[in-house]
Amino acid sequence: MPKHKKTIAIIGAGLGGAAAAALLQHAGFEVQLYEQAFGFSRLGAGIHMGPNVLKIFRRIGIDQKLAEISSKPKFWFSRDGITGKYLSRIPLEGYGATYCTVHRGDLHKLQIAALQPGTLHFDKRLKQIDDGGNDVYLEFEDGTSARADIVIGADGINSRVREILLGVEKPNYSGWVGHRAVIPADKLKKYNLDFEECVKWWGPDRHMMVYFTTGDRSEYYYVTGVPHDAWDFKDPFVQSSREEMADAFKGYHPVIEALIDATDEVTKWPLFNRNPLPLWSKGRLVLLGDACHPMKPHMAQGAAMAIEDGAMLARCLGETGIENYSSAFKLYESNRRDRATRVQTVSNANTFLLTQEDPAWVYGYDLYAEPLKSEAIA
Ligand SMILES: Cc1cc2nc3c(=O)[nH]c(=O)nc-3n(C[C@H](O)[C@H](O)[C@H](O)COP(=O)(O)OP(=O)(O)OC[C@H]3O[C@@H](n4cnc5c(N)ncnc54)[C@H](O)[C@@H]3O)c2cc1C
Repeated sequence: MPKHKKTIAIIGAGLGGAAAAALLQHAGFEVQLYEQAFGFSRLGAGIHMGPNVLKIFRRIGIDQKLAEISSKPKFWFSRDGITGKYLSRIPLEGYGATYCTVHRGDLHKLQIAALQPGTLHFDKRLKQIDDGGNDVYLEFEDGTSARADIVIGADGINSRVREILLGVEKPNYSGWVGHRAVIPADKLKKYNLDFEECVKWWGPDRHMMVYFTTGDRSEYYYVTGVPHDAWDFKDPFVQSSREEMADAFKGYHPVIEALIDATDEVTKWPLFNRNPLPLWSKGRLVLLGDACHPMKPHMAQGAAMAIEDGAMLARCLGETGIENYSSAFKLYESNRRDRATRVQTVSNANTFLLTQEDPAWVYGYDLYAEPLKSEAIA
């Protein structure tokens, strides 16, 4: 039985929206989660979930389960993509929780399973919102509607909620794409090479990040960052090919050549970003994750920031109650903006862990141990 009678609507059940929903429910709020997709599938992609996120997942009881299904690398290696020389060896243990690399679909499935039954509504593409002052009216493309006391826009980089708050504005194409491929680890045996648990191969203007996505290390995954003049496709991603990959990484290290040789299917994704937004909330509407501060994915912390946002929002609403949503939103922004902007800046610059540095400011962060900066509600 929810502790608070009022309803929170979340638009978008991605990694950020799903986390926010579970954390808000854990805090006793009534939550409805609206997602445009008809359902979710296990799309070929991996993801890093650092100790900063695992500490949050502990709250909703999925940290152990995630660690069980994930690879748990002890180090992040950075290596020269051509010579193979080691540029850094960053310990991933000692930050108060496990560092996981996992299949994105498996992570998302765990997050969805943590929701109370009946929370998630598929095929609900948000069309319009009317913040009437006393509550919010939501209209979906399928002709249905709903009401809520507050609305969280967790609807990604092309957020409709952001458009309603700030107007229509396309995100900036960064001039880079990311290729993604999952490779059965068995296919790699024949190369007789050392496929390390978590390694980023750096070239002068491109890179390839590689890691396992399962606890039994049966799947290996790579994601690249490669310059690409324009993105002329309507779709969120397109198919690439082994040939395109071989061309992009010609002359690179034998491990990279082997990975490309073992690739059956590879997709290509545009990397977009936005400048920091002038506001994160207005009236009864508030943004989180990529809807609020999208970034190039080079720190592997975009989803982590979306999940941290959800946790902070739940914490702030827990402090103030929904009645004082306006104070909660201010508190949320003042406790998230600096960190999210710092991560966004470093991620876009693509320098993180290239050389030996201490990542404790990212991984050591414990959102619940941080005192709330409360000046915003004074
Ligand atoms: C190549 C690549 C690699 C990455 N690797 C990592 C990594 O290793 N670690 C990491 O932390 N991050 C990584 N990221 C970043 C990460 O994927 C994003 O930051 C993260 O997914 C953002 O989560 P989100 O919930 O804010 O948005 P999304 O995951 O985009 O979810 C938004 C959801 O909203 C739904 N939606 C959209 N519009 C509507 C609407 N009008 N009505 C209803 N529903 C709607 C969408 O269908 C979607 O389900 C990577 C990104 C890329 C491109």
